Amino acid sequence: MATLFTGIQPTGFLHIGNYFGAIKNWVKLQYEYDSYISVVDYHAITVLYEVDNMPQNVFDMALGLYACGIDFERTTLFIQSEVPGHAELTWIFNTVIPLGELERMTQFKDKSRQNRANVNVGLLDYPVLQAADILIYKGEVVPVGEDQVQHVEFAREVSRKFNARYGETFPECKALLTQTPRVMGLDGSGKMSKSEDNYIALFEPEEEIWKKVSVAKTDPARKRKTDPGTPEICNIYALHGLVTPKNAIEEVAEGCRTAGIGCLDCKKIFVENLMTVLDPIQERYKDFSSRKQQVRKVLTQNAARCREVAKSTILEVKQKMGLSPVWEI
Ligand code: SF4
Repeated sequence: MATLFTGIQPTGFLHIGNYFGAIKNWVKLQYEYDSYISVVDYHAITVLYEVDNMPQNVFDMALGLYACGIDFERTTLFIQSEVPGHAELTWIFNTVIPLGELERMTQFKDKSRQNRANVNVGLLDYPVLQAADILIYKGEVVPVGEDQVQHVEFAREVSRKFNARYGETFPECKALLTQTPRVMGLDGSGKMSKSEDNYIALFEPEEEIWKKVSVAKTDPARKRKTDPGTPEICNIYALHGLVTPKNAIEEVAEGCRTAGIGCLDCKKIFVENLMTVLDPIQERYKDFSSRKQQVRKVLTQNAARCREVAKSTILEVKQKMGLSPVWEI
């Protein structure tokens, strides 16, 4: 079984964009790959954050992933900072990567613009830590959205450079592009995100979801129920694609074009279908929340397992680089 690695930041909560755009796919892939998923808290500290909230955010992310269907047995879900080898391998990789390659990364440029008061070395080094995250487990497959392909390419480059200098050690990992298109936010202006406040949270009650969806933007041509619309330009129609069966989507499109249904009717159908997906996830979340000790124990065991794998990779790397253990001299 090939090894898969992916990571997610401890943002404190999950929205349906995270689920349909990534996590749902990870749940499927855990049956096909030896899967490692990390809550990447070392990545999260490259921007300013609330220290007091971090432990809860990290744990909630793990709970949320288990509620979505990540399986205790099939996936090694762990917290990045509990495996120090990631940072050690990052330092080693820093010595094979030219500075210019990091400065060219799109995400560094974007994040530097967004965090002008805190352009720290960690922001620049972020892709090197990502490469270490993947390669410390000799990861071969990395499920990503299109915006992360550049980072997987970069990890391949790290492998090539290390292998060329010190001998064949790391695989060249591949990006596994998720089939799901990016999930647009309720305001229709861009990707669903916490910072844009245009999201539906995964664990939000139906009433709250309805409050948001009922006022969400639709085709502006549909001012009255009798105005025909163009579903293809409507954000709600795009969201239907995530949860509504194909034949029902066709009915929605036809109803929209002929003014046979109003936008509120259409939104009600969407929320109803969405809740058939979210209800079991929310149930599982409640269940896992009632046995936090067990979840914490599994995370601790998983980190211990990861440290073993990481130790073996670091030992191999150090031997190839002529570093210690000195007792072998
Ligand atoms: S009927 Fe549905 S698809 Fe058409 S504009 Fe209204 S919300 Fe959008």
